[in-house]
Amino acid sequence: MTISNDFLHRFQLEHAGVRGAIVRLDETWQRIRANGDYAGPLADLLGRTVAASALFTSPIKFEGRLSIHLRESGALRLLFADCTHDGQLRGIVRWDGEPPKTAITLEPTARLAITIENSITDSRYQGLVPVESGDLSRAFEGYFERSEQLPTRLVLAAADDRCGGLMLQQVATAGGAPLGDADGWNRAEHLLATLTPDELLRLPSEQVLLRLFHDEGVRLQPAQPLAFGCTCSYQRVSDMLRSLGRAENQAVLAEQGSIQVTCEFCNRQYVFDEADVAAVFADTPAEAEPSRRH
Ligand SMILES: [Zn+2]
Repeated sequence: MTISNDFLHRFQLEHAGVRGAIVRLDETWQRIRANGDYAGPLADLLGRTVAASALFTSPIKFEGRLSIHLRESGALRLLFADCTHDGQLRGIVRWDGEPPKTAITLEPTARLAITIENSITDSRYQGLVPVESGDLSRAFEGYFERSEQLPTRLVLAAADDRCGGLMLQQVATAGGAPLGDADGWNRAEHLLATLTPDELLRLPSEQVLLRLFHDEGVRLQPAQPLAFGCTCSYQRVSDMLRSLGRAENQAVLAEQGSIQVTCEFCNRQYVFDEADVAAVFADTPAEAEPSRRH
């Protein structure tokens, strides 16, 4: 039996008035990485985004999932990762043309969306901002400053076998004043800036926090285990086929004999034959068809 090394630790820095989280992903990251044959710079970007999606769930109480979605960054067509409240992660990256050979800089056209889908209240909250930096971590920090007015600092790192991240956020009182001493946030920021990607990936999480913040009163919460998980299902694929309309489905059936859908996240295959497609549309009146609308 292997013991999972994939964990999220929430923590507080009592003296500085800062909350944070540290995440480390081995198996989860290797599984996500194995799903696509990603070139080095794309894997680096994806690993850091996957780690960030786990970190971003740390300050919120919800049941559902949080997703990070970056698009319109030139050849970087799509960068996506999500994490559920119970720690199931997945992610993909899509690039147009020849795979990149050097580190990727985000384009000024890029837009970053962070969405929280709450399954209990069946509600959805989305923050959408243009990215203000070519660097992924700075772009995420910009999101929190702009969308949440929340001072945030991030270090993210990815290697072939592991990815991870550390996030700090300034905590304020109800009146808006910082919770820690006057210099607390400034101190925490400077200490975080001394953390190298290699330390983040190779030292045990507790040791990373101790090395950085030993004078700041670190209060560590119990670890939350994380794992790869995909929320795709036969029902979700059926809903997707229904949304395309009957005519579109019939056209594929006529050409290929069946409809095959492969989940981009987990590579699971769903096959719909003629009877399955008929069942998908069994309750759909003909006039509700998108393809018949003018
Ligand atoms: Zn799937």
